[in-house]
Amino acid sequence: MPISITPDLVLERYAQVTPALLERLGITLLLSDLDNTLAPPHTRRPTDEIRAWIAGLTGAGVRFAIVSNNRSSSRVEDYCADLGVPYIGHAGKPKPGGFRRAMALFGASPEETAMLGDLWTTDILGAKLWGLTMLAVEPVDGAPDWGHALLYALHRPWMRRVKRRQGPLQ
Ligand SMILES: [Mg+2]
Repeated sequence: MPISITPDLVLERYAQVTPALLERLGITLLLSDLDNTLAPPHTRRPTDEIRAWIAGLTGAGVRFAIVSNNRSSSRVEDYCADLGVPYIGHAGKPKPGGFRRAMALFGASPEETAMLGDLWTTDILGAKLWGLTMLAVEPVDGAPDWGHALLYALHRPWMRRVKRRQGPLQ
């Protein structure tokens, strides 16, 4: 069977990922990108909203980790330590190493794992190549720079098409 590199769902915000949605998808481990997915780049502290969202997931038994390509390991480390969640930094997405290290932390298989992220070239491509469910999300606070603006503009029509086809989430 050919590999699809189309996200499984396209969401407007991370908060649309709920325990009920993950249960419907058969997902028990949620991996999330950090920059532009949960927080604008350079954010050092998680918001109360992020804390509550993660508490809602983990309280319902969903396992959670952050998988980030960010090279400022101290920032990602501080952010994740503050949240109390495991993280894989310098993940090198879309290469498989970061995804595999994160799944190994929990002994999880790709079939029970979803990736949440904003970027085609790292999150979506990697998740789909290595067999994870991909939940694509609009950037949390718009494009942080022209490079991201260009990438988002390139994949916007494709994202809209997936979103139209997927119908209501719950
Ligand atoms: Mg990102």
